[in-house]
Amino acid sequence: FEGMTIVELAKRTGKPMSSLQDILINVGEKVDSEFDPVSIDIAELVAMEVGVNVRRLHSNEGSEVLPRPAVITVMGHVDHGKTSLLDALRQTSVAAKEAGGITQHLGAFVVNMPSGSSITFLDTPGHAAFSAMRARGAAVTDIVVLVVAADDGVMPQTLEAMAHAKAAKVPIVVAINKCDKPAADPERVRIQLGSEGLPLEEMGGDVQVVEVSAISKVGLDKLEEALLLQAEMMDLKARVDGPAQAYVVEARLDRGRGPLATAIVKAGTLVCGKYVVVGAEWGRIRAIRDTTGKLTEMAKPAMPVEIEGLRGLPMAGDDIIVVDSEERARMLSAGRKKKLEKDRLKKIDEGRIEIPDASE
Ligand code: GDP
Ligand code: MG
Repeated sequence: FEGMTIVELAKRTGKPMSSLQDILINVGEKVDSEFDPVSIDIAELVAMEVGVNVRRLHSNEGSEVLPRPAVITVMGHVDHGKTSLLDALRQTSVAAKEAGGITQHLGAFVVNMPSGSSITFLDTPGHAAFSAMRARGAAVTDIVVLVVAADDGVMPQTLEAMAHAKAAKVPIVVAINKCDKPAADPERVRIQLGSEGLPLEEMGGDVQVVEVSAISKVGLDKLEEALLLQAEMMDLKARVDGPAQAYVVEARLDRGRGPLATAIVKAGTLVCGKYVVVGAEWGRIRAIRDTTGKLTEMAKPAMPVEIEGLRGLPMAGDDIIVVDSEERARMLSAGRKKKLEKDRLKKIDEGRIEIPDASE
């Protein structure tokens, strides 16, 4: 899919062709006929100008689609051990092994399984991050690990996490944590989850349950195997060739290197040197680093990488798209910034209350 004609654009946005043509001329696009195709970038720009929300749908047609690793988010009630569990899992990761236990914080890490497959974990636990990403259209998570403390049982945020996963149609694997504690009662947790409507495997459903301890590091391999099995059942695949479609999972400003974004590729291959639009920001990818901090030329689907070369700081959940030129990148970024500002003002306007003027 390379673009669309003005006729199509008018049909899809529901706006008159004349106004679309005016905008096209304003952005410096030459259009001789309404049957001339405009590029996907220009189409997005024009749609934004007329106040239409745009979502790029990428077709996999004609390109090779291959199995890809699963991307996992850990959720659960506060203090049930999400951070501890991620720490424990991270210690079994590639970065930990290659860098002698020193892992740089990237917002994601990869665990390589003995079978040769791998699992990608997002490092920001909690449903706040999960829903923020989803609200922005970034469906990066394939599976949710629902952490429930064996001594505390199902709590309000356990239920919230379940609801979020369900709404996003993301399957759950339950990790009953703190099984090392004397007060641990994993059986009670199972019963609670079952009565909350979670179809556990041992009750004839398809939700796997694993007993773990993040502190004694028990059951981590079983949890990883369960995730791998869940991923296999989902038959996760992605287009590998062609331009990347990716999402930001974390961004930070580095004094020397400028804005850095941890990205996860959804489809295609992210390549060094390309112009990208990231949310409302843009840049040219100057360097790509893997989770061990090693420079790499490219990133494939589900592989978390850190990219350098952006002009501004993007936000978690921002999409990353590859464009042809600096001009396109600047233009799209400017268009998106304008749209963001418009939306912001509209929100303020909607929230405004009327106060009678006392001087009248
Ligand atoms: P989070 O709020 O879900 O991220 O929970 P944390 O990972 O911060 O853990 C909360 C508390 O529970 C900390 O004091 C941890 O040391 C403790 N904790 C976490 N996992 C375990 C576990 O498997 N066993 C025991 N005994 N304590 C744990
Ligand atoms: Mg925590």
